[in-house]
Amino acid sequence: MSNQILNHFLMPITRRPEVIMVKGEGSYLWDNNGRRYLDFIQGWAVNSLGHCPEVVRRAIVEQSARLLTPSPALYNEPELELAELLSRASGLAQVFFCNCGTEANESAIKLARKWGRLHRNDAYEIITAQNAFHGRTLASMAASGKPGWESLFPPPMPGFIKVPFGNAEVVESVITAKTVAVMIEPIQGEAGVVIPPDGYLQRLRQITKRHDLLLIVDEIQTGMGRTGAAFCHQFEGIQADIMTLGKGLGGGVPIAAMLASEKASCFSYGEQGGTYNGNPLMTAVALAVSRVVLQPDFIARVGSTGRYLLERLKQLANRHECPEIRGRGLLAALRLPGEYAEEVRDRCFEHGLLINAPRPNLLRFMPALNVTIQEVDKLIEIVEESLNDLARFKGPIALSQK
Ligand SMILES: *Cc1c(COP(=O)(O)O)cnc(C)c1O
Repeated sequence: MSNQILNHFLMPITRRPEVIMVKGEGSYLWDNNGRRYLDFIQGWAVNSLGHCPEVVRRAIVEQSARLLTPSPALYNEPELELAELLSRASGLAQVFFCNCGTEANESAIKLARKWGRLHRNDAYEIITAQNAFHGRTLASMAASGKPGWESLFPPPMPGFIKVPFGNAEVVESVITAKTVAVMIEPIQGEAGVVIPPDGYLQRLRQITKRHDLLLIVDEIQTGMGRTGAAFCHQFEGIQADIMTLGKGLGGGVPIAAMLASEKASCFSYGEQGGTYNGNPLMTAVALAVSRVVLQPDFIARVGSTGRYLLERLKQLANRHECPEIRGRGLLAALRLPGEYAEEVRDRCFEHGLLINAPRPNLLRFMPALNVTIQEVDKLIEIVEESLNDLARFKGPIALSQK
């Protein structure tokens, strides 16, 4: 089938390879031609236990035979259990469930504005970082710092102040009477796995405390064990006021959450909600997934597999003159010496490997959290083969040109 035919009824939102994915199992995906791919994208860091794991399938089958959607105005069992589990794991008092990360961030923004109205004399401005990614609704796009986004769908939602990522002193310098919160990713995922200097989140915590502001951490990509801690900000030993989760929380099904401390949790009846929010089918799956991925042993293994991945990437980087590798746990990136990441990605695809190229010179790896050492070895082998292919076609000199 040609791309034109495949795209005929679908709005064109991104360029996709001309195959249809039909089956997944663990770290592998199969297309409609029976080709197998080693998957280091995993639904965009979503399938925390790989494709179609037993845990998720069983939760879907059992819950779907019991109760799908009573109504968001009624309690259900998995929702209550999941809320308690996430609250205990994070130290945050209360949870609001929703359907995607963007909606969780939208909810966090609303909660912060409500809190500002109650406690900070109607303050509503939120300080966010350049190159941040917080989602695709109008408010979460305005909160994001993706270059070019501010002019996409004018007028942009007001109330967001941008600062460079990683510099806490600049944050303090832009605080005014209108400021209500600071919203930050502990590691910027979509920007290319950008890790801030040690102590950054601690300093943001001190500054927000000193000025009586809320600290919002967007853990949609970095949470739920991905970085080798339950939640990435815990590496700095801090407690946030608001945290958003998504992606890995559902292990492949659409669910997200916004958690808040007792101090910040200030919605009144009618101010936030949604038809599918907290529905038992999705919360039952997230509960089953969370019970696995929040186990200390499981998280420790993410850390050790992550260190192995970084070590292997470092060796590869040395062999191919790549200037930098970065990562934490199983969220990693390799910076290439030139702007040919998409060519490498496409070569890898031809060799049966799915990876992401978030920037022209950067490859990103976000495998299942239970990926094996053998699968990491296979990744390295295929990336290396693809780099060698490109060097052969184009010559190493052409490759290293910017
Ligand atoms: C993916 C992502 C989002 C948006 O989540 P969706 O489920 O796509 O709406 C927000 N913030 C971060 C850090 C993300 O990685």
